[in-house]
Amino acid sequence: MSFDLARIRAEFPLLSREVNGCSLVYLDSAASAQKPQAVMDAESQFYKNGYAAVHRGIHTLSSEATTQMEIIREQIAHFLNAAHSKEIVFVKGATEAINLVANSWGGAHIHPGDNIIITEMEHHSNIVPWQMLAQRMSAELRFIPLTFSGTLDTKRLSSLIDCRTRLLAITHVSNVLGTKNPVKAIVAQAKLSGVVTLIDGAQGIVHDKVDVQDLGCDFYVFSGHKIYGPSGIGILYGRKDILDVMPPWEGGGAMISTVSLSHGTTYASVPWIFEAGSPNITSIIGLGAALKWIMDVGMDSIIDHEKKLIGYAVERLSSIPDIVIYSPFQPVGVVAFNLSTHHAFDVGSFLDQYGIAIRTGHHCAMPLMQYYAVSAMCRASFAIYNSEEEVDRLVSGLMRIRILLSGTRGQV
Ligand code: PLP
Repeated sequence: MSFDLARIRAEFPLLSREVNGCSLVYLDSAASAQKPQAVMDAESQFYKNGYAAVHRGIHTLSSEATTQMEIIREQIAHFLNAAHSKEIVFVKGATEAINLVANSWGGAHIHPGDNIIITEMEHHSNIVPWQMLAQRMSAELRFIPLTFSGTLDTKRLSSLIDCRTRLLAITHVSNVLGTKNPVKAIVAQAKLSGVVTLIDGAQGIVHDKVDVQDLGCDFYVFSGHKIYGPSGIGILYGRKDILDVMPPWEGGGAMISTVSLSHGTTYASVPWIFEAGSPNITSIIGLGAALKWIMDVGMDSIIDHEKKLIGYAVERLSSIPDIVIYSPFQPVGVVAFNLSTHHAFDVGSFLDQYGIAIRTGHHCAMPLMQYYAVSAMCRASFAIYNSEEEVDRLVSGLMRIRILLSGTRGQV
């Protein structure tokens, strides 16, 4: 299918609204992407014609909804090239997926004196659960360092891994800088020492084809809302042989086989053992529709369009005097910058007046901010529906703000 940006944009109703009297330029998709009509229609159709609780009832609606949910599990397995649909666990989002692994796998496998390796560029979701686990188990957290060019100093990995390293958890693509990490090579190196690996794919899956078998990772996590799907749904992929021996982490309905007051509980098999309670069935339907929509557009078209757009954005942004760009060469999905020493919040607030939405702040990556010795950055993030005209609007907005703020001495 040839790529037709106008047609793509027309599928996202929200993009046609105005903000502060200007047509909206939405450059905050890394925080959460807008939704195509197909996702809204799928959810609304489900509410109108198919809604019922899953895994609970013998009646037609319940069994149809259950079948739909399990078909989407298979669809997601296919999307990730997982070996089996039982390797797909429905969770609330990337954050919950990481907490599941930290609590279940981590609680069983991390012992005092063990160590866990993460990186200095992680989102708090891939830092705090490991800090909590390390504290609980008297284990150590180690970090692959950042370099000033915004990449990881992966040469340091061999000196970080030792015989007490149990897990390596790393982001596929940095949510702040857009750095695409060489996760396949890193996973391969970790595996040589028997280290279990988790990839935080919250950003990576949006901008790249993901093949979990090719990557060789043990866990891969992502959130539906960043990949044009609904919020409140996400995926934990786990290799079946590893999931099979992990203990449950949350108890409740749907994750049991039998419950007896005198004999305790026996558990359901993988993946249902990790899905306690009523699942977010409507969002599961929406996620299925989002992934189908992506497959229809074609991941190659998405990658191609975004690559050209980011190249254009970096080139145009670089022409602004005094801009500091933190992203590395050829970032993926996002560009992080500051305008001279002006605080990112000021820049973001002015841009909002022109209808341009970017993200400002620490981006849930305070250690990365500390590395660059700033309290905040501006981040423009790009999706399938963004255009070169929108990049131009961003650049002219920044040029105007530069003049407006000149004479004020900002503090980044
Ligand atoms: N990891 C990365 C790299 C992210 O960008 C985000 C969200 O911004 C998360 C994890 C957490 O995702 P969620 O809040 O959807 O669980």
